[in-house]
Amino acid sequence: MRFSFTSEQNAFRQELRDFLATELEGERPLDSFDQAFSKKLAKKGWIGLAWPKEYGGHGLGAIEQMIYTEEMILHEAPRGFHFTAERQVGPSLIRHGTEEQKRQWLTDIMQADVSFALGLSEPEAGSDLAAVKTRAVRDGDDYVVNGQKIWTSGAHQADHIWLVVRTDPDAPKHRGISCLMADLKAPGVTVRPLHDMTYGHHFNEVFFEDVRVPVDRRVGEENMGWYILAEHLDFERSGIERLVDLERLFRRVMDEGRRRAKEGTLDPAVRSKLAELCIEVEVGRLMCYRVAWLQSVGRVPNYEASMAKVYGTEWSQRMTAAAMNLLGMNGAAMKEGTIGDSVRHGYLNAVSRTIAGGTSEIQRNIMATRGLGLPRS
Ligand SMILES: Cc1cc2nc3c(=O)[nH]c(=O)nc-3n(C[C@H](O)[C@H](O)[C@H](O)COP(=O)(O)OP(=O)(O)OC[C@H]3O[C@@H](n4cnc5c(N)ncnc54)[C@H](O)[C@@H]3O)c2cc1C
Repeated sequence: MRFSFTSEQNAFRQELRDFLATELEGERPLDSFDQAFSKKLAKKGWIGLAWPKEYGGHGLGAIEQMIYTEEMILHEAPRGFHFTAERQVGPSLIRHGTEEQKRQWLTDIMQADVSFALGLSEPEAGSDLAAVKTRAVRDGDDYVVNGQKIWTSGAHQADHIWLVVRTDPDAPKHRGISCLMADLKAPGVTVRPLHDMTYGHHFNEVFFEDVRVPVDRRVGEENMGWYILAEHLDFERSGIERLVDLERLFRRVMDEGRRRAKEGTLDPAVRSKLAELCIEVEVGRLMCYRVAWLQSVGRVPNYEASMAKVYGTEWSQRMTAAAMNLLGMNGAAMKEGTIGDSVRHGYLNAVSRTIAGGTSEIQRNIMATRGLGLPRS
């Protein structure tokens, strides 16, 4: 198959590049959670651009959505405020929300008025997500939620959380689960920081103690949340961001490689590794394009998204390891702003990429069973 873009899609990419080049000229904001920047995108109508026109979206396709994400990331544009809501919450609402929920929440997301964290993982429920224990008990027009989430990215910044809860403890494991949209500022919610090995504060523990969530914040039928979640995770794994997140760093590494090659100081083993990585990033890009194409013809990519996720995240680990080899001792330099600092950060950060959003082992299980039709182990 040969992928190519229409002239409209190429023009859209150029429009994005021009906008981002102007908006991000000079000092780049350090924090990717920037509501003011998201508001600028909202004003252009670029948040939810593939969502139906009847809800205020542009009604554009998955390919345009992918082009937009690719350019946003390659330009290192701040996307933390709206990204989760745009990538996962909106699409889940479009497929499973009530008419009223769509009108209110899709509009709020598109206008960059709300931001979401994802409350799926718990201390005893990660890969085995159906083991969630956070309990939601119906009390009048509310649910009363008690329990704990962990590794919750951005919960210290977002105002809402897509919360996976158990609503029927007696039902079979995959049945008694529901999805709620809870207010992170509600009484009874405590967010505690967790620091990762880059010293960064990215994720958190979130505790819920008698937190009231109105019933009209439940998405989909009560106890049927598992089926929404399966798609929700497919949306999470579908994006091109897993691959291109570190591509900008790779471009810097390649520039350094070229400089050393001219100098005659590039180790031949590192040289061929860089060439291999150049080919691999293009292979990964084609996998992401395939996922977007499947979405553009109305299919929810499943094992195809897992393939792209594994390939992109494992590529980023191979790439940052090669970059460390290229830079030698300087690769671990801590001096801010240097390529060494970026490579060190990228190298440490790449470790978590094959875990976040579902581990590589789990993705390989999906490819084996749903892609190749092999029996469950
Ligand atoms: C940077 C980062 C950000 C994250 N952000 C969020 C977030 O915002 N919201 C959220 O809810 N979660 C988040 N997570 C959590 C993430 O989804 C989980 O860490 C992940 O799903 C794995 O779950 P676990 O950590 O409980 O590991 P476990 O499930 O305990 O797995 C431990 C090991 O066992 C392997 N394993 C488990 N089951 C199987 C199996 N059936 N077959 C083969 N191998 C298996 C795994 O591959 C892994 O190597 C984040 C994680 C990271 C690293």
